[in-house]
Amino acid sequence: MSDFHVYDTTMRDGAQQEGLNLSVQDKLHIARHLDDLGVGYIEGGWPGSNPKDTEFFALAAKELDLEHATLAAFGATRRPDASAADDGLVAALRESGASVVTLVAKSHDKHVELALRTTLEENLAMVRDTVQHLREEGQRVFVDCEHFFNGYLDNRDYALEVVRTAAEAGAEVVVLCDTNGGMLPHQVGEIVANVMATGARLGIHAHNDTGCAVANSMAAVLAGATHLQGCINGYGERTGNADLVTSVANLELKLGMSVLPEGRLAEATRISHAISEITNYPPSARQPYTGVSSFAHKAGLHASAIRVDPNLYQHIDPALVGNDMRLLVSEMAGRATIELKGKELGYDLTGDPERLARLTDRVKSMEQQGYTFEAADASFELLLAEEMGTRPQYFDIESWRVLAESLPGSLDAISEATVKLRAGGQRLAVIGEGNGPVNALDHALRQAIEQLYPDVARFHLIDFRVRILDQGHGTDAITRVLIETTDGKDSWVTVGVGPNIIEASWQALVDAVTYGLRLHAVTPQTV
Ligand SMILES: [Zn+2]
Repeated sequence: MSDFHVYDTTMRDGAQQEGLNLSVQDKLHIARHLDDLGVGYIEGGWPGSNPKDTEFFALAAKELDLEHATLAAFGATRRPDASAADDGLVAALRESGASVVTLVAKSHDKHVELALRTTLEENLAMVRDTVQHLREEGQRVFVDCEHFFNGYLDNRDYALEVVRTAAEAGAEVVVLCDTNGGMLPHQVGEIVANVMATGARLGIHAHNDTGCAVANSMAAVLAGATHLQGCINGYGERTGNADLVTSVANLELKLGMSVLPEGRLAEATRISHAISEITNYPPSARQPYTGVSSFAHKAGLHASAIRVDPNLYQHIDPALVGNDMRLLVSEMAGRATIELKGKELGYDLTGDPERLARLTDRVKSMEQQGYTFEAADASFELLLAEEMGTRPQYFDIESWRVLAESLPGSLDAISEATVKLRAGGQRLAVIGEGNGPVNALDHALRQAIEQLYPDVARFHLIDFRVRILDQGHGTDAITRVLIETTDGKDSWVTVGVGPNIIEASWQALVDAVTYGLRLHAVTPQTV
């Protein structure tokens, strides 16, 4: 591993994202994941600025056992006209237990005058004193030059003076920040190359307001920066910070640098998703490298070529970042796509062209009715199993009915569903209640078969999406329902279609339960 710094600021700058709130425990979990990814530095927050961050550093010292990462405490230079040793916030950094302190310093003259309300000379003294003081106390110091690029464009000499002052005082890295996120890569490349002449070791901290945070980070590295800051999943205020995983994957896979410990990049997809569980922000399907769609191909015409060489259609082998190639069964689906998708699911249709043709026709006609299998792998797999004669029949539905009742003045509408079916040689009629008709049907169906198939108690619905497909007939629109179910470990998506939303939901529910039982290798009892 090189001496290049991969520096994560998810827990400080990333947490500025609207709606993102992290508890101290959340932050400890995130730190462990980041360490697992192999980042070199984790910025834990600003000790002394709020009790939560102070508590985090205290707990981290006791509970975090980091293998790769060093914890960094973030803070500001001393107050104007005071001494660094007596400044309370500087003391909190000194006492945080973090071996690295990242100090934010003003480097844009207008910000010094308008925000700090002090002189340009005093700001330089604040940088110098604070860096020197913390160095004397035995800490490593990085300096973040806030609004550096705008400052450089407005008053180049002063911006450069701040960099020199920080480096001469003992800052190990001077980080150039595009705090407003308004730069473009050619500007960043040129400015970083010019600042390299100061002799300081440089870093980059980019925001994504022009959609160029990662590109700007790459430009900075190509111009000589050897310290890269970013946030997992591109979290951050406004449009976010540079996505750390995308940046690191670019450095390793495109620029041939080795910035993470051996083998760690292959954990990126898992870790990116694990952290989205903690932040409670659903992962973006279109996230470069780690998104579920990042290597998804709507094959159609290309399917036969993908079968020969998948790398013709993707920029890297998805396994390098721990992701997978996915084939989408779409309206343009030809036999080749279905054959390939079958193979992905463990069905070899190569030797059976008739069956393959029949299945292709069936998918095409279902798609005409409004079905989509792109997002509903589980329903597609059941369809395949049905064609192969291996779809298990756990129960045989006789009928279902659902009633909804609302009482005047009450916000709660109670739904009651009756499901009649045969399973395990018995005829069962079960009533289920729920806060909506689909919920009631789900309860009734699972209650009816729970004794026979106890696994269903572990299934629950996690997502329910409805799309109205206007087939151009005005009122007689078709409804498509997608249901996502989990057993706590795996999750699967099923689809139902029909003119009636409850009928469409019912189909998706029946597929969901059938798929789950089949996944658990449950043997069907005689219906
Ligand atoms: Zn920032």
